[in-house]
This record gives sequence, structure tokens and C-alpha cells, in this order.
Amino acid sequence: MSVGVPALVDLIDASLPQTQCKECDFEACRPYAQAVVDGEASIDRCRPGGEHTLRQISQLMGIDPAPYLKTVMDQFRPASIVRIDLDTCIGCVKCIQVCPVDAIVGAPKRAHVVLEDVCTGCNLCIEPCPVDCIHEHAIDNPTVHDRRMQDQSRARFERRMVRLKRQADEKSRAFSKAQKLISGVTS
Ligand code: SF4
Ligand code: SF4
Ligand code: SF4
Repeated sequence: MSVGVPALVDLIDASLPQTQCKECDFEACRPYAQAVVDGEASIDRCRPGGEHTLRQISQLMGIDPAPYLKTVMDQFRPASIVRIDLDTCIGCVKCIQVCPVDAIVGAPKRAHVVLEDVCTGCNLCIEPCPVDCIHEHAIDNPTVHDRRMQDQSRARFERRMVRLKRQADEKSRAFSKAQKLISGVTS
């Protein structure tokens, strides 16, 4: 029995680490999986996935992994998490806004904390921090290939996407309502 296209996307997505780090130049793991299936991306783009992910994708796609191995080994980025220096954090919330899995908690003007069991090590929060108080830490456990961690990261990412969409819709509705009120007043 051949694997259908939607199922193939699901299988490739399931083989990805779900760090949602964008290092493949796609917005998240799932769009990269879709691009691989569509023939729009090569199978060697997932840096945190390394050889393990390459072999899984190559098997699913029926592609020889050998020509891609060197690139994947050269660009491999081992699993990590980040921690925040509590004495330096100014509570600007910029890191919370970019974390793809809601792994940072904190209130404005208060020190923020990373939930280490949730952090995927995507490092997306490091660059926006205005005081350079977020630092990467290597971890021994190769959690990027832990199925439970992958499922957790995917679920948290999807929940965040739903929330952001709802907030954008609410904002858009409020804007339209305000525009109607203003045009009612001025007409
Ligand atoms: S883990 Fe990062 S590089 Fe790999 S597919 Fe997901 S978003 Fe892309
Ligand atoms: S805390 Fe930072 S490194 Fe960890 S998942 Fe969130 S954005 Fe990525
Ligand atoms: S971006 Fe940096 S300073 Fe701002 S809340 Fe996050 S850790 Fe603190």
C-alpha cells in the first residue's frame, strides 16, 4: 500500500525534532515537512535533527541519504536549553513574544524564567533580548529525538498558533468596529 501525501507529511513531521527553530528557513517544522514532500526543500535542512532525522526522512521519501550526510554532520546543532540571568533581566517581555512553545514565564518589569522541561532550545529568544541575559546551555540527554518531548512541543506550538490567530481576529474585529463608529460620527 502506498503512503498518501497527507500521511507522508504527517510521518515526516513526526520525524522532525519539533524545536520550531526555523533554522531550515521555514516558519516551523510542519511547513518544512510539507516542502520536502512537495519537492521544494532538500532533506538535509534540519540542523537539530542531525543524522537521525536525515535517515528517517530519506527512508520515508525513498531518497539515498549518502549525498546529504556531510552537510548534515557539518551543520548539526546538538540539543540545548536556555536559561535567563535573573539579576540582569529587565522584564521587557520580548522573549515571551517570540517563544514558539510558551516556555518563558514572567510579568512586565519582573525577572523572567524559562521552563526547562518545555524549552526546545530553538534559541529564538536570544537575539531579541536587549540586555543579553539569555544563554544557551548544552544538555546531555538527546531530547530532540524523545517522542514525548516532540509531541509536547508540537502540541504547545499548535496551541500558541490558535491563540495568536484568535487574538489577531479579535483585534481586527475591534478595529472594524471602531472604524464603523468613527464613520458613523463623521458622516
Ligand atoms: S527543528 Fe528547526 S530546522 Fe528542524 S524542521 Fe523544525 S524548524 Fe526546521
Ligand atoms: S525559551 Fe527560548 S530557546 Fe527555549 S523554546 Fe522558548 S524561545 Fe526557544
Ligand atoms: S528579553 Fe531578556 S530582558 Fe527581556 S524579559 Fe526576556 S530575558 Fe528579560
